[in-house]
Amino acid sequence: MGCVIFSKVIGLCRKVLSGVSKKSSANRSTGALAVETIPREQHNVSRTHMSVNAIKVLNRLNRHGYQAYLVGGGVRDLLLGHHPKDFDIATDATPEQIKDLFKNCRLIGRRFRLAHILFGREVIEVATLRGHHQENSTDSLAKQNDNGMLLRDNVYGTIDEDAERRDFTVNAMYYDIKDYSIKAYGGGLQDLENATLRMIGDPATRYKEDPVRMLRAVRFATKLNMTISEETRAPIKELAPLMKSIPAARLFEEYQKLFLSGKALANYKMLHQYRLLESLFPLSAELLENNEGGKEDKLFQLVCSNTDKRIANDQRVTPAFIIAAFLWYPIEVHAQTLMTEAGLNDYDAMMVAMNDVCDAQCRSVSIPKRFSAMARDMWNLQLRLPRRTGARAFKLLTHPKFRAGYDLLLLRGEIEGGEAAELAQWWTTFQHANETVQRDMVRKLGGPRGRRRNPGKGSR
Ligand code: ATP
Ligand code: MG
Repeated sequence: MGCVIFSKVIGLCRKVLSGVSKKSSANRSTGALAVETIPREQHNVSRTHMSVNAIKVLNRLNRHGYQAYLVGGGVRDLLLGHHPKDFDIATDATPEQIKDLFKNCRLIGRRFRLAHILFGREVIEVATLRGHHQENSTDSLAKQNDNGMLLRDNVYGTIDEDAERRDFTVNAMYYDIKDYSIKAYGGGLQDLENATLRMIGDPATRYKEDPVRMLRAVRFATKLNMTISEETRAPIKELAPLMKSIPAARLFEEYQKLFLSGKALANYKMLHQYRLLESLFPLSAELLENNEGGKEDKLFQLVCSNTDKRIANDQRVTPAFIIAAFLWYPIEVHAQTLMTEAGLNDYDAMMVAMNDVCDAQCRSVSIPKRFSAMARDMWNLQLRLPRRTGARAFKLLTHPKFRAGYDLLLLRGEIEGGEAAELAQWWTTFQHANETVQRDMVRKLGGPRGRRRNPGKGSR
């Protein structure tokens, strides 16, 4: 039934889109960016598919004489018959005027100041329409660095100017609460119909203003099944190093959107193709570079596709898991260097390597403590899971992160075969066996005191 509704919506949308494209040239404005206005009766975006709270905000702004538009992904996704992730609103009210209208409003952001209207767990984001900056402005409203990167973007303007400041044409669509019409800029409707992701303005300039737009290009291409247009795609590889200037905290948010939204595998491949993986996981990308198609690539692909499957099955996913898997081989490689160059034993080398790699990673993508702690637990478990004699195996089963550590071992087993695969198999059987069988399995490993290899070391 879901499918029938979905295909109907798409069918309707296609009809609407083809009807509109014929009229579009008549509606073009004289401004830099073409605009087409689609009246309510010619599109399928209905308030019944919108968040009730978003409609409340739109109506209240409108009643107080402000312009109010649902904008961006909300309009794009409704036109496609998808359920939007969130509902963003644009208005000509300033953040302070918005705050005066809503008692449940919080103003946030310095680089890009906007209002959050809170309705329990739902947050409706309301941004004031943005305008153009003066060249090389350094005042308190707008600021760019020497690379053209926007450090502050708080100059307000008209809807036409605002559209020029958005990233892709398919994101520059405004649903007007006043008459329920949609304004689409830069040929966004045709691009939506042709599944083309096209940057507004000169792509290189726009990437320099905000390098995160390169990650967004990848994310939307995979999420919406779109092709990135030639001119939008062309500068990415060369400008990818600009990602280094993005604060690590912002990149953690982008990491989550890229890897925990059901398209991790496709995003991983495309990020690698455009040399953007280096900005998120520099150590992992370096290993890939040196061993294209090797075990690293296989592990990364496997953890991404497993994550996608879990999301498709509505199973829980944690940001820590992919991070732990992506960093496991860099840790092994670094530990090897520490053993040969600093003379550390294998256990100490692994412990130091975990710290070093985690610190280095956090300089690119800052991983909140609770997730880095979980990744560390998972890595530690890779060292502990081979030690199963005596009471150890039973104790490990009760470790709070046993499941995650075991899952990482399973992936390694699948990729590496050999000892890792045997160990993973042993733990699979052990977990599901009754106590008698479990005791027997442990007994078969050797004496209660030690391991068969390296007796004495680490056995206490
Ligand atoms: P989704 O919410 O599904 O990830 P979205 O298009 O709504 O997609 P948001 O990050 O919610 O993306 O942003 C809302 C809108 O704000 C976008 O559609 C786009 O118009 C604009 N926008 C967001 N980030 C940028 C950016 N870095 N540069 C230019 N415009 C942006
Ligand atoms: Mg959104």
